[in-house]
Amino acid sequence: MSLSKTHPTVKNFINGKFERNGEPSMDVLSPLDGSVISTMPMSGNKEVNAAVDAAAAAYPGWSGMTLKDRVQIFFRYRTLLDQHKDELAKLVQIENGKTYGEALAEVMKSMELCEFAVSMPQIVTNEIQEVSRGVECRIERKPLGVVACITPFNFPNMVPHWTVPNALVLGNTVVLKPSEMVPLSTVRMAELLKEAGLPDGVFNVVNGGKEVVEAICDHPEIKATSFVGSTKVAKIVYKRATSNLQRCVALGGAKNHLLVLPDAHVGMTANNVVASMAGCAGQRCMAASVMVGVDKVQHIIDEMVKEANKIVPGENLGSVISKEAKERIEKYITEAEAQGAKILVDGRNAVVKGQEDGFYVGPTIIDHVKPNMAVATEEIFGPVISIIRAKDLDEAITIENSSNYGNAAAVFTQNGGLAKKVIDKASAGMVGVNIGVPVPREPFSFGGWNESKFGVGDITGKSSIEFWTQNKKTTTKWNPEDKRDWMS
Ligand code: NAD
Repeated sequence: MSLSKTHPTVKNFINGKFERNGEPSMDVLSPLDGSVISTMPMSGNKEVNAAVDAAAAAYPGWSGMTLKDRVQIFFRYRTLLDQHKDELAKLVQIENGKTYGEALAEVMKSMELCEFAVSMPQIVTNEIQEVSRGVECRIERKPLGVVACITPFNFPNMVPHWTVPNALVLGNTVVLKPSEMVPLSTVRMAELLKEAGLPDGVFNVVNGGKEVVEAICDHPEIKATSFVGSTKVAKIVYKRATSNLQRCVALGGAKNHLLVLPDAHVGMTANNVVASMAGCAGQRCMAASVMVGVDKVQHIIDEMVKEANKIVPGENLGSVISKEAKERIEKYITEAEAQGAKILVDGRNAVVKGQEDGFYVGPTIIDHVKPNMAVATEEIFGPVISIIRAKDLDEAITIENSSNYGNAAAVFTQNGGLAKKVIDKASAGMVGVNIGVPVPREPFSFGGWNESKFGVGDITGKSSIEFWTQNKKTTTKWNPEDKRDWMS
Protein backbone atom coordinates (compact mmCIF):
# COMPACT_ATOMS: atom_id res chain seq x y z
CA MET A 1 0.00 0.00 0.00
CA SER A 2 1.50 3.35 -1.02
CA LEU A 3 0.66 5.94 1.59
CA SER A 4 2.37 9.07 0.41
CA LYS A 5 0.18 12.16 -0.10
CA THR A 6 -2.94 10.04 -0.10
CA HIS A 7 -5.09 12.67 1.55
CA PRO A 8 -6.06 16.22 0.68
CA THR A 9 -4.75 19.09 2.76
CA VAL A 10 -6.55 19.31 6.11
CA LYS A 11 -8.67 22.43 6.62
CA ASN A 12 -10.47 23.88 9.61
CA PHE A 13 -14.26 23.42 9.64
CA ILE A 14 -15.91 26.66 10.67
CA ASN A 15 -19.56 27.61 10.19
CA GLY A 16 -20.17 24.62 7.91
CA LYS A 17 -17.26 25.37 5.56
CA PHE A 18 -13.78 23.95 5.22
CA GLU A 19 -11.27 26.77 5.15
CA ARG A 20 -7.57 27.43 5.31
CA ASN A 21 -6.23 30.98 5.47
CA GLY A 22 -2.47 30.86 5.39
CA GLU A 23 -1.92 29.37 8.85
CA PRO A 24 1.51 27.73 9.30
CA SER A 25 1.47 24.17 8.01
CA MET A 26 2.56 20.89 9.60
CA ASP A 27 3.09 17.52 7.89
CA VAL A 28 0.87 14.62 8.86
CA LEU A 29 2.80 11.33 8.86
CA SER A 30 1.55 7.79 8.70
CA PRO A 31 3.30 5.88 11.50
CA LEU A 32 2.86 2.69 9.46
CA ASP A 33 5.71 3.68 7.13
CA GLY A 34 6.77 7.19 8.15
CA SER A 35 5.50 8.76 4.91
CA VAL A 36 3.85 12.18 4.67
CA ILE A 37 0.14 11.65 3.99
CA SER A 38 -1.18 15.20 4.28
CA THR A 39 -0.54 18.62 5.77
CA MET A 40 -2.57 20.42 8.42
CA PRO A 41 -2.93 24.01 9.62
CA MET A 42 -1.40 25.06 12.94
CA SER A 43 -4.14 27.50 13.91
CA GLY A 44 -4.22 30.08 16.69
CA ASN A 45 -6.43 32.65 18.41
CA LYS A 46 -7.92 33.97 15.20
CA GLU A 47 -9.33 30.60 14.10
CA VAL A 48 -10.56 29.76 17.61
CA ASN A 49 -12.35 33.12 17.76
CA ALA A 50 -13.97 32.50 14.37
CA ALA A 51 -15.11 29.02 15.42
CA VAL A 52 -16.52 30.28 18.73
CA ASP A 53 -18.34 33.13 16.92
CA ALA A 54 -19.90 30.60 14.53
CA ALA A 55 -20.88 28.31 17.43
CA ALA A 56 -22.35 31.23 19.39
CA ALA A 57 -24.40 32.38 16.38
CA ALA A 58 -25.72 28.85 15.84
CA TYR A 59 -26.58 28.32 19.52
CA PRO A 60 -30.02 29.99 19.75
CA GLY A 61 -31.40 28.02 16.81
CA TRP A 62 -29.84 24.70 17.84
CA SER A 63 -30.71 24.92 21.54
CA GLY A 64 -34.23 26.05 20.57
CA MET A 65 -34.94 22.74 18.81
CA THR A 66 -36.48 19.95 20.82
CA LEU A 67 -34.27 17.14 22.08
CA LYS A 68 -36.29 14.73 19.94
CA ASP A 69 -35.58 16.77 16.81
CA ARG A 70 -31.87 17.08 17.56
CA VAL A 71 -31.44 13.32 17.97
CA GLN A 72 -32.97 12.68 14.51
CA ILE A 73 -29.73 14.03 13.02
CA PHE A 74 -27.73 11.54 15.06
CA PHE A 75 -29.89 8.61 13.93
CA ARG A 76 -28.91 9.58 10.37
CA TYR A 77 -25.28 10.18 11.38
CA ARG A 78 -25.03 6.74 13.02
CA THR A 79 -26.30 5.20 9.76
CA LEU A 80 -23.63 7.11 7.83
CA LEU A 81 -20.93 5.83 10.21
CA ASP A 82 -22.16 2.32 9.51
CA GLN A 83 -22.20 2.85 5.73
CA HIS A 84 -18.68 4.32 5.78
CA LYS A 85 -17.15 2.14 8.50
CA ASP A 86 -14.62 0.45 6.21
CA GLU A 87 -13.33 3.77 4.85
CA LEU A 88 -13.30 5.33 8.35
CA ALA A 89 -11.38 2.36 9.77
CA LYS A 90 -8.76 2.61 7.00
CA LEU A 91 -8.36 6.30 7.79
CA VAL A 92 -7.78 5.53 11.48
CA GLN A 93 -5.31 2.82 10.52
CA ILE A 94 -3.30 5.09 8.23
CA GLU A 95 -3.09 8.08 10.53
CA ASN A 96 -2.76 6.26 13.86
CA GLY A 97 -0.95 3.04 12.91
CA LYS A 98 -3.23 0.51 14.62
CA THR A 99 -4.38 -2.65 12.82
CA TYR A 100 -7.44 -2.60 10.57
CA GLY A 101 -9.37 -4.80 13.05
CA GLU A 102 -8.60 -2.45 15.93
CA ALA A 103 -9.54 0.56 13.81
CA LEU A 104 -12.84 -1.01 12.79
CA ALA A 105 -13.62 -1.82 16.44
CA GLU A 106 -12.98 1.85 17.22
CA VAL A 107 -15.49 3.00 14.58
CA MET A 108 -18.05 0.47 15.86
CA LYS A 109 -17.58 1.93 19.33
CA SER A 110 -18.28 5.40 17.90
CA MET A 111 -21.56 3.99 16.60
CA GLU A 112 -22.39 2.68 20.07
CA LEU A 113 -21.66 6.13 21.50
CA CYS A 114 -24.15 7.60 19.01
CA GLU A 115 -26.71 5.02 20.13
CA PHE A 116 -26.40 6.38 23.65
CA ALA A 117 -26.74 9.97 22.39
CA VAL A 118 -29.96 9.18 20.49
CA SER A 119 -31.39 7.56 23.63
CA MET A 120 -31.28 10.89 25.50
CA PRO A 121 -35.03 11.57 25.09
CA GLN A 122 -35.65 8.35 27.04
CA ILE A 123 -33.21 9.34 29.80
CA VAL A 124 -33.49 13.12 30.12
CA THR A 125 -37.12 13.30 31.16
CA ASN A 126 -36.81 16.05 33.76
CA GLU A 127 -38.58 16.01 37.14
CA ILE A 128 -41.77 17.49 38.53
CA GLN A 129 -43.38 17.28 41.97
CA GLU A 130 -46.11 19.02 43.96
CA VAL A 131 -43.88 20.27 46.77
CA SER A 132 -46.73 21.78 48.81
CA ARG A 133 -50.45 22.07 48.10
CA GLY A 134 -50.99 23.90 44.79
CA VAL A 135 -47.26 24.54 44.38
CA GLU A 136 -45.23 22.55 41.94
CA CYS A 137 -41.47 22.38 41.48
CA ARG A 138 -39.97 21.33 38.18
CA ILE A 139 -36.38 20.69 37.15
CA GLU A 140 -35.32 20.90 33.51
CA ARG A 141 -31.93 20.27 32.01
CA LYS A 142 -30.67 23.11 29.85
CA PRO A 143 -27.56 23.27 27.66
CA LEU A 144 -24.57 25.41 28.64
CA GLY A 145 -23.88 27.25 25.36
CA VAL A 146 -20.64 27.00 23.36
CA VAL A 147 -18.44 24.16 24.64
CA ALA A 148 -15.08 22.71 23.56
CA CYS A 149 -13.59 19.23 23.27
CA ILE A 150 -9.82 18.55 23.08
CA THR A 151 -8.75 15.05 22.06
CA PRO A 152 -5.58 12.86 21.92
CA PHE A 153 -3.96 10.79 19.16
CA ASN A 154 -4.72 7.27 20.32
CA PHE A 155 -8.39 6.97 19.25
CA PRO A 156 -8.81 9.47 16.39
CA ASN A 157 -12.38 8.40 15.69
CA MET A 158 -13.70 7.18 19.06
CA VAL A 159 -12.54 9.78 21.59
CA PRO A 160 -14.21 12.71 19.73
CA HIS A 161 -17.39 10.57 19.87
CA TRP A 162 -17.06 10.25 23.66
CA THR A 163 -18.07 13.89 23.95
CA VAL A 164 -19.33 15.52 20.72
CA PRO A 165 -22.62 13.58 20.18
CA ASN A 166 -23.75 13.96 23.82
CA ALA A 167 -22.75 17.63 24.03
CA LEU A 168 -24.60 18.40 20.78
CA VAL A 169 -27.73 16.33 21.41
CA LEU A 170 -28.10 18.06 24.77
CA GLY A 171 -28.27 21.42 22.93
CA ASN A 172 -24.74 22.83 23.11
CA THR A 173 -22.71 23.96 20.11
CA VAL A 174 -19.16 22.62 19.88
CA VAL A 175 -15.60 23.54 18.96
CA LEU A 176 -13.41 20.43 18.62
CA LYS A 177 -9.61 20.47 18.66
CA PRO A 178 -8.28 17.07 17.54
CA SER A 179 -4.71 15.89 18.08
CA GLU A 180 -2.34 17.32 15.48
CA MET A 181 -0.96 13.79 15.02
CA VAL A 182 -4.32 12.49 13.67
CA PRO A 183 -6.41 15.27 12.08
CA LEU A 184 -7.92 13.23 9.20
CA SER A 185 -10.67 11.33 11.02
CA THR A 186 -12.31 14.51 12.28
CA VAL A 187 -12.43 15.94 8.74
CA ARG A 188 -14.67 13.00 7.83
CA MET A 189 -16.61 13.43 11.08
CA ALA A 190 -17.43 17.03 10.08
CA GLU A 191 -18.38 15.99 6.53
CA LEU A 192 -20.67 13.20 7.70
CA LEU A 193 -22.34 15.34 10.39
CA LYS A 194 -23.07 17.93 7.71
CA GLU A 195 -24.43 15.22 5.41
CA ALA A 196 -26.64 14.02 8.30
CA GLY A 197 -28.20 17.50 8.43
CA LEU A 198 -26.36 19.25 11.25
CA PRO A 199 -26.86 23.02 10.76
CA ASP A 200 -23.81 25.17 9.99
CA GLY A 201 -21.90 26.47 13.00
CA VAL A 202 -23.24 23.85 15.43
CA PHE A 203 -20.04 21.79 15.13
CA ASN A 204 -16.65 23.33 14.30
CA VAL A 205 -13.14 21.90 14.11
CA VAL A 206 -9.98 23.94 14.71
CA ASN A 207 -6.70 22.13 14.00
CA GLY A 208 -3.42 22.88 15.71
CA GLY A 209 -1.50 22.33 18.93
CA LYS A 210 -0.84 24.13 22.19
CA GLU A 211 -1.90 27.58 20.94
CA VAL A 212 -5.37 26.36 20.03
CA VAL A 213 -5.75 24.65 23.41
CA GLU A 214 -4.68 27.81 25.24
CA ALA A 215 -7.07 29.95 23.18
CA ILE A 216 -9.91 27.56 24.05
CA CYS A 217 -9.11 27.65 27.78
CA ASP A 218 -8.96 31.47 27.72
CA HIS A 219 -12.06 32.16 25.64
CA PRO A 220 -14.75 33.90 27.74
CA GLU A 221 -17.59 32.58 25.55
CA ILE A 222 -16.70 28.89 26.09
CA LYS A 223 -18.70 27.54 29.01
CA ALA A 224 -17.16 24.07 29.37
CA THR A 225 -14.13 22.17 28.08
CA SER A 226 -13.53 18.44 28.04
CA PHE A 227 -9.96 17.23 27.64
CA VAL A 228 -8.52 13.75 27.04
CA GLY A 229 -4.75 13.29 26.88
CA SER A 230 -1.65 13.01 29.07
CA THR A 231 -1.68 13.90 32.78
CA LYS A 232 0.88 16.65 32.18
CA VAL A 233 -1.41 18.48 29.75
CA ALA A 234 -4.62 17.54 31.63
CA LYS A 235 -3.29 19.46 34.65
CA ILE A 236 -2.44 22.50 32.51
CA VAL A 237 -5.85 22.49 30.80
CA TYR A 238 -7.84 21.87 33.99
CA LYS A 239 -6.09 24.70 35.85
CA ARG A 240 -6.27 27.16 32.95
CA ALA A 241 -9.88 26.46 31.93
CA THR A 242 -11.24 26.55 35.49
CA SER A 243 -9.25 29.68 36.33
CA ASN A 244 -11.16 31.29 33.46
CA LEU A 245 -14.38 30.05 35.10
CA GLN A 246 -15.08 27.28 32.60
CA ARG A 247 -16.48 23.95 33.71
CA CYS A 248 -13.82 21.32 32.97
CA VAL A 249 -13.28 17.59 33.05
CA ALA A 250 -9.76 16.55 32.06
CA LEU A 251 -8.81 12.91 31.63
CA GLY A 252 -5.11 12.13 31.94
CA GLY A 253 -2.66 9.26 31.54
CA ALA A 254 -2.60 5.86 33.18
CA LYS A 255 -0.49 3.08 34.69
CA ASN A 256 -2.88 0.17 34.97
CA HIS A 257 -2.09 -2.75 37.27
CA LEU A 258 -3.34 -6.29 36.70
CA LEU A 259 -3.13 -8.44 39.83
CA VAL A 260 -2.69 -12.11 38.90
CA LEU A 261 -3.31 -14.77 41.54
CA PRO A 262 -1.98 -18.35 41.35
CA ASP A 263 -5.46 -19.86 40.98
CA ALA A 264 -6.29 -17.79 37.89
CA HIS A 265 -7.39 -19.65 34.77
CA VAL A 266 -4.08 -20.02 32.93
CA GLY A 267 -5.08 -19.71 29.26
CA MET A 268 -7.66 -16.98 29.73
CA THR A 269 -5.40 -14.94 32.01
CA ALA A 270 -2.33 -15.15 29.77
CA ASN A 271 -4.42 -14.24 26.73
CA ASN A 272 -6.15 -11.32 28.48
CA VAL A 273 -3.03 -9.82 30.03
CA VAL A 274 -1.06 -9.96 26.78
CA ALA A 275 -3.97 -8.65 24.70
CA SER A 276 -4.41 -5.79 27.16
CA MET A 277 -0.74 -4.77 27.04
CA ALA A 278 -0.23 -5.22 23.26
CA GLY A 279 -3.63 -4.21 21.80
CA CYS A 280 -3.44 -0.91 19.90
CA ALA A 281 0.34 -1.24 20.42
CA GLY A 282 -0.17 -0.51 24.12
CA GLN A 283 -1.44 2.97 23.29
CA ARG A 284 -4.70 2.65 25.21
CA CYS A 285 -5.29 4.48 28.46
CA MET A 286 -6.83 1.17 29.62
CA ALA A 287 -3.81 -0.96 28.61
CA ALA A 288 -2.16 -3.29 31.12
CA SER A 289 1.18 -1.76 32.07
CA VAL A 290 2.13 -3.56 35.28
CA MET A 291 1.32 -7.15 36.16
CA VAL A 292 1.61 -7.89 39.85
CA GLY A 293 2.19 -11.63 40.11
CA VAL A 294 1.05 -12.86 43.52
CA ASP A 295 3.00 -15.82 44.96
CA LYS A 296 3.52 -18.73 42.51
CA VAL A 297 2.48 -17.55 39.02
CA GLN A 298 5.42 -18.77 36.90
CA HIS A 299 3.12 -21.14 34.97
CA ILE A 300 1.01 -18.15 33.90
CA ILE A 301 4.06 -16.07 32.94
CA ASP A 302 5.34 -18.96 30.79
CA GLU A 303 2.01 -18.99 28.97
CA MET A 304 2.13 -15.20 28.54
CA VAL A 305 5.51 -15.52 26.83
CA LYS A 306 4.00 -18.02 24.37
CA GLU A 307 1.08 -15.65 23.72
CA ALA A 308 3.39 -12.66 23.19
CA ASN A 309 5.53 -14.62 20.73
CA LYS A 310 2.44 -15.05 18.52
CA ILE A 311 2.29 -11.27 18.07
CA VAL A 312 4.10 -10.01 14.99
CA PRO A 313 4.61 -6.30 14.22
CA GLY A 314 3.04 -5.37 10.89
CA GLU A 315 0.77 -8.43 11.01
CA ASN A 316 -1.30 -8.51 14.18
CA LEU A 317 0.42 -5.56 15.89
CA GLY A 318 0.31 -1.98 14.62
CA SER A 319 2.90 0.75 14.96
CA VAL A 320 3.31 3.30 17.73
CA ILE A 321 2.52 6.89 16.85
CA SER A 322 5.95 8.42 16.14
CA LYS A 323 9.70 7.97 15.97
CA GLU A 324 9.96 9.79 19.32
CA ALA A 325 7.45 7.37 20.89
CA LYS A 326 9.41 4.35 19.58
CA GLU A 327 12.67 5.75 20.96
CA ARG A 328 11.08 6.62 24.32
CA ILE A 329 9.61 3.11 24.73
CA GLU A 330 12.85 1.36 23.78
CA LYS A 331 14.77 3.58 26.22
CA TYR A 332 12.50 2.44 29.07
CA ILE A 333 13.21 -1.22 28.21
CA THR A 334 16.98 -0.67 28.03
CA GLU A 335 16.98 1.21 31.32
CA ALA A 336 15.04 -1.55 33.11
CA GLU A 337 17.47 -4.15 31.76
CA ALA A 338 20.42 -2.11 33.02
CA GLN A 339 18.76 -1.94 36.45
CA GLY A 340 18.59 -5.74 36.68
CA ALA A 341 15.13 -6.58 35.33
CA LYS A 342 14.85 -9.61 33.03
CA ILE A 343 13.56 -9.16 29.48
CA LEU A 344 11.49 -12.27 28.67
CA VAL A 345 10.21 -11.01 25.32
CA ASP A 346 12.09 -8.15 23.65
CA GLY A 347 10.31 -5.83 21.21
CA ARG A 348 13.22 -3.50 20.55
CA ASN A 349 14.50 -2.96 17.00
CA ALA A 350 11.35 -4.31 15.37
CA VAL A 351 11.39 -3.89 11.58
CA VAL A 352 8.52 -4.61 9.20
CA LYS A 353 9.54 -5.68 5.70
CA GLY A 354 8.47 -3.11 3.11
CA GLN A 355 7.71 -0.58 5.89
CA GLU A 356 11.22 -0.17 7.26
CA ASP A 357 10.60 3.50 8.15
CA GLY A 358 7.48 2.69 10.20
CA PHE A 359 7.48 3.14 13.98
CA TYR A 360 7.20 -0.42 15.29
CA VAL A 361 7.89 -1.86 18.73
CA GLY A 362 7.30 -5.57 19.31
CA PRO A 363 5.54 -6.99 22.39
CA THR A 364 7.77 -6.81 25.44
CA ILE A 365 7.56 -8.62 28.77
CA ILE A 366 9.91 -7.48 31.54
CA ASP A 367 10.10 -9.67 34.65
CA HIS A 368 11.49 -9.06 38.15
CA VAL A 369 10.80 -5.34 38.00
CA LYS A 370 11.16 -3.48 41.30
CA PRO A 371 8.31 -1.15 42.35
CA ASN A 372 10.55 1.95 42.25
CA MET A 373 11.86 1.47 38.68
CA ALA A 374 10.65 3.90 36.00
CA VAL A 375 8.98 1.04 34.05
CA ALA A 376 6.91 0.35 37.17
CA THR A 377 5.80 3.91 37.89
CA GLU A 378 5.75 5.95 34.65
CA GLU A 379 3.35 5.71 31.73
CA ILE A 380 5.25 4.01 28.86
CA PHE A 381 2.38 3.95 26.32
CA GLY A 382 3.74 1.08 24.26
CA PRO A 383 3.29 -2.74 24.05
CA VAL A 384 5.28 -3.35 27.22
CA ILE A 385 4.35 -5.03 30.50
CA SER A 386 6.43 -4.94 33.67
CA ILE A 387 6.02 -7.86 36.05
CA ILE A 388 6.45 -7.17 39.75
CA ARG A 389 6.46 -10.20 42.06
CA ALA A 390 4.48 -9.90 45.31
CA LYS A 391 4.41 -12.39 48.19
CA ASP A 392 0.68 -11.99 48.87
CA LEU A 393 -2.43 -10.09 47.85
CA ASP A 394 -1.97 -7.37 50.48
CA GLU A 395 1.46 -6.53 49.08
CA ALA A 396 0.03 -6.54 45.54
CA ILE A 397 -2.73 -4.12 46.57
CA THR A 398 -0.17 -1.85 48.26
CA ILE A 399 1.81 -1.74 44.98
CA GLU A 400 -1.34 -0.90 42.99
CA ASN A 401 -2.35 1.77 45.49
CA SER A 402 1.06 3.48 45.33
CA SER A 403 0.55 4.63 41.72
CA ASN A 404 -0.14 8.32 41.10
CA TYR A 405 -2.56 7.26 38.40
CA GLY A 406 -5.87 5.44 38.85
CA ASN A 407 -7.54 4.73 35.54
CA ALA A 408 -8.00 0.95 35.61
CA ALA A 409 -7.02 -2.09 37.67
CA ALA A 410 -7.92 -5.74 37.29
CA VAL A 411 -7.68 -8.99 39.18
CA PHE A 412 -7.38 -12.49 37.73
CA THR A 413 -8.58 -15.23 40.06
CA GLN A 414 -11.31 -17.81 40.47
CA ASN A 415 -11.83 -16.84 44.11
CA GLY A 416 -14.76 -14.43 44.51
CA GLY A 417 -13.73 -13.28 47.98
CA LEU A 418 -10.25 -12.27 46.86
CA ALA A 419 -11.67 -10.57 43.75
CA LYS A 420 -14.04 -8.59 45.99
CA LYS A 421 -11.10 -7.48 48.13
CA VAL A 422 -9.39 -6.04 45.03
CA ILE A 423 -12.63 -4.36 43.88
CA ASP A 424 -12.90 -2.70 47.31
CA LYS A 425 -9.25 -1.74 47.76
CA ALA A 426 -8.03 -0.82 44.25
CA SER A 427 -7.34 2.88 43.85
CA ALA A 428 -8.76 3.09 40.33
CA GLY A 429 -11.95 4.34 38.73
CA MET A 430 -12.50 1.25 36.56
CA VAL A 431 -11.91 -2.27 37.85
CA GLY A 432 -11.96 -5.59 35.99
CA VAL A 433 -12.40 -9.11 37.29
CA ASN A 434 -10.87 -11.55 34.78
CA ILE A 435 -11.06 -8.76 32.19
CA GLY A 436 -7.90 -7.05 30.99
CA VAL A 437 -9.49 -3.93 29.50
CA PRO A 438 -12.40 -3.12 31.83
CA VAL A 439 -14.05 -0.35 29.79
CA PRO A 440 -17.56 0.33 31.10
CA ARG A 441 -19.95 0.39 28.15
CA GLU A 442 -22.85 2.80 27.81
CA PRO A 443 -24.94 3.73 29.72
CA PHE A 444 -22.17 3.31 32.33
CA SER A 445 -19.67 6.12 32.36
CA PHE A 446 -15.92 6.21 31.70
CA GLY A 447 -13.44 7.93 34.01
CA GLY A 448 -10.50 7.24 36.30
CA TRP A 449 -9.32 8.40 39.71
CA ASN A 450 -6.27 10.24 41.08
CA GLU A 451 -4.08 11.78 38.34
CA SER A 452 -6.01 9.97 35.61
CA LYS A 453 -8.86 12.47 35.86
CA PHE A 454 -9.39 16.01 37.10
CA GLY A 455 -12.86 17.45 37.64
CA VAL A 456 -16.20 16.15 38.84
CA GLY A 457 -18.02 13.29 37.13
CA ASP A 458 -17.04 11.09 34.21
CA ILE A 459 -16.77 11.85 30.51
CA THR A 460 -19.27 9.44 28.91
CA GLY A 461 -22.55 7.71 29.71
CA LYS A 462 -25.05 9.05 32.20
CA SER A 463 -22.41 11.08 34.01
CA SER A 464 -21.81 13.18 30.89
CA ILE A 465 -25.39 14.47 31.01
CA GLU A 466 -24.57 16.32 34.21
CA PHE A 467 -21.40 17.74 32.70
CA TRP A 468 -22.97 19.10 29.50
CA THR A 469 -26.09 20.61 31.10
CA GLN A 470 -27.29 22.86 33.90
CA ASN A 471 -30.56 22.56 35.83
CA LYS A 472 -33.35 25.10 35.77
CA LYS A 473 -35.62 24.89 38.83
CA THR A 474 -39.10 26.43 38.44
CA THR A 475 -41.56 26.78 41.31
CA THR A 476 -45.14 27.44 40.14
CA LYS A 477 -48.44 28.38 41.73
CA TRP A 478 -51.45 28.99 39.45
CA ASN A 479 -54.44 29.40 41.75
CA PRO A 480 -54.64 32.99 43.13
CA GLU A 481 -57.71 32.07 45.26
CA ASP A 482 -55.62 29.72 47.31
CA LYS A 483 -54.67 31.78 50.36
CA ARG A 484 -52.71 29.07 52.14
CA ASP A 485 -49.06 29.94 52.51
CA TRP A 486 -46.43 27.86 50.74
CA MET A 487 -45.71 25.76 53.82
CA SER A 488 -49.30 24.63 54.32
P1 NAD B 1 -1.24 14.89 24.84
O1 NAD B 1 -1.54 15.30 26.24
O2 NAD B 1 0.15 15.07 24.34
O3 NAD B 1 -2.19 15.68 23.81
C1 NAD B 1 -3.58 15.79 24.02
C2 NAD B 1 -4.06 17.10 23.43
O4 NAD B 1 -3.41 18.19 24.10
C3 NAD B 1 -3.73 17.23 21.95
O5 NAD B 1 -4.86 17.76 21.28
C4 NAD B 1 -2.52 18.18 21.92
O6 NAD B 1 -2.48 18.99 20.78
C5 NAD B 1 -2.71 19.03 23.17
N1 NAD B 1 -1.44 19.46 23.79
C6 NAD B 1 -0.26 18.78 23.79
N2 NAD B 1 0.66 19.46 24.52
C7 NAD B 1 0.06 20.57 24.98
C8 NAD B 1 0.48 21.65 25.83
N3 NAD B 1 1.71 21.72 26.31
N4 NAD B 1 -0.42 22.61 26.13
C9 NAD B 1 -1.68 22.55 25.65
N5 NAD B 1 -2.13 21.55 24.86
C10 NAD B 1 -1.29 20.57 24.53
O7 NAD B 1 -1.74 13.36 24.70
P2 NAD B 1 -1.51 12.40 23.47
O8 NAD B 1 -0.06 12.06 23.38
O9 NAD B 1 -2.20 12.90 22.26
O10 NAD B 1 -2.34 11.12 23.96
C11 NAD B 1 -1.82 10.11 24.78
C12 NAD B 1 -2.15 10.36 26.23
O11 NAD B 1 -3.57 10.45 26.38
C13 NAD B 1 -1.72 9.23 27.14
O12 NAD B 1 -1.19 9.78 28.31
C14 NAD B 1 -3.01 8.48 27.43
O13 NAD B 1 -3.02 7.76 28.64
C15 NAD B 1 -3.98 9.61 27.46
N6 NAD B 1 -5.34 9.17 27.26
C16 NAD B 1 -6.13 9.12 28.35
C17 NAD B 1 -7.43 8.66 28.23
C18 NAD B 1 -8.30 8.55 29.44
O14 NAD B 1 -9.46 8.23 29.28
N7 NAD B 1 -7.82 8.81 30.64
C19 NAD B 1 -7.92 8.28 26.98
C20 NAD B 1 -7.09 8.38 25.88
C21 NAD B 1 -5.78 8.82 26.03
